[in-house]
Amino acid sequence: MAEALQNYVDGKWVDAVDGERFDVFNPATGEVIATAPHSKREDVDAAVAAARRVFDDGEWWPGTPSRERGRILLRAGEIVRRELERLARMESLDTGKPIEDGREDVGEVAFMFEYYGGWATKIDGDAQHLDADRMFMVWKEPVGVAAGITPWNYPMMMATQKLAAGLAAGCTFVLKPPEQTPLTGLELPKILEEAGLPTGVFHVLTGFGETAGAPLVEHPGVDKICFTGSREVGKIIMRSGAETLKRVTLELGGKSPNIVFADSDLPSAFEGTGNGVFWNQGEICSAGTRVFVDRSVYDDAVNAFVDRAKTIRLGDGLDEETTMGPLISLEQKDRVSRYIEIGTSEAKLAGQGSLPDDRRLANGYFVAPTVFADVDNSATIAREEIFGPVMSVIPFQDVDDVVRLANDTEYGLAAAVWTTDIKKALRTAQALRAGIVWINDSQPAPTEMPWGGYKQSGIGRELGKEGLEDFLEKKSVYVNLA
Ligand code: ADP
Repeated sequence: MAEALQNYVDGKWVDAVDGERFDVFNPATGEVIATAPHSKREDVDAAVAAARRVFDDGEWWPGTPSRERGRILLRAGEIVRRELERLARMESLDTGKPIEDGREDVGEVAFMFEYYGGWATKIDGDAQHLDADRMFMVWKEPVGVAAGITPWNYPMMMATQKLAAGLAAGCTFVLKPPEQTPLTGLELPKILEEAGLPTGVFHVLTGFGETAGAPLVEHPGVDKICFTGSREVGKIIMRSGAETLKRVTLELGGKSPNIVFADSDLPSAFEGTGNGVFWNQGEICSAGTRVFVDRSVYDDAVNAFVDRAKTIRLGDGLDEETTMGPLISLEQKDRVSRYIEIGTSEAKLAGQGSLPDDRRLANGYFVAPTVFADVDNSATIAREEIFGPVMSVIPFQDVDDVVRLANDTEYGLAAAVWTTDIKKALRTAQALRAGIVWINDSQPAPTEMPWGGYKQSGIGRELGKEGLEDFLEKKSVYVNLA
């Protein structure tokens, strides 16, 4: 029997007000693993009313001293570490990702609580004397009720990077996890309750974007929306959030360039480039899917990428041998497969990995890792975000040429540069219009480092100190002693 999940509202586990539910699938088999509340506006109203009450009454902020807020988050980190294996298995089952990646994600979730637990006691302000009589102070205060709307590729991490920063700042918080993967989001209240979070500070509602997400964005009781997801939905959120002038943080998609110069350490550049596309089934907003390779090493690079695709072992994420899981849904599988068809007509299909042969996985949403060569930067597969294990390899001549091509995109999330020439690395990083640039690496997103996009990849930053600042208002207090 599939587990019947419940919402967490004002300290209670409840069904949606109208009792409706939806199914949650195991992407490796297509089987239903749980049902979850199909929340709507009235469920959102109840959660926001409670979050508003606790914030406005000052029960949480300033009612809970910053030391105690910090300790609650540190304890949450400890609990996550204690539960790491169980949570990693849950994340792997729900998303399809390899269990080892699940462990990594959950380990980082623990650190996010610890990192922002440390920040809770370090939120300071500013002060200045204008003359003997007049001075001002700048106080930092929480923005109020924050709502997190999160995607399915890193469900627990995407929720926690918002939640832990928001709680450290003193916000109350409503989370709407993704409809495809609600399991670990619903573990967060249990963890925080055990860690001592007061009732009413944090709420979780499962449901779909248009029926549960949209009412959160429109709700006048919500002060800030932190969203990670598609560019299209990001635009909708910005538009409908404008009605109540909400603060918005948007972490959207990308079509990130990955530049391999001929003077790089080629084996590690090829390996890192492959990781940057195929890791997490390619379901990463920052995936380095536009792979620019210097013409002089181009053929070797394409061969190395094809070899890599062929050695990837697709399977059930819970199998320790699996190195790539299924995509998240049938819809996503169809979408990525369509892009592969388009790519076949636009470029050279250089090679593909193979699908799992286990009959138990016959209905899983698997797509073989795929390498296209001789791709033109104007091709559909080089312009649109595919969100699957599809690499486009594009040759280039020199630095100016590649910088121009790399920046020729509406997105600006991330970029990777591979070279042993430090000057060339930094010069290229300066020229790239992207929020994150990796030099001789691809994809690390340490919690300490700000994360966010230029151009149509987003607004604002999460993670690091910047991620905390986005949950704080600044109040200037002017004093006249005369
Ligand atoms: P993906 O393509 O990764 O599913 P989406 O942008 O569709 O990305 O979804 C990311 C999150 O945004 C999910 O939690 C989803 O339910 C939510 N969402 C989708 N549409 C809306 C909307 N119109 N308003 C608010 N939230 C939405």
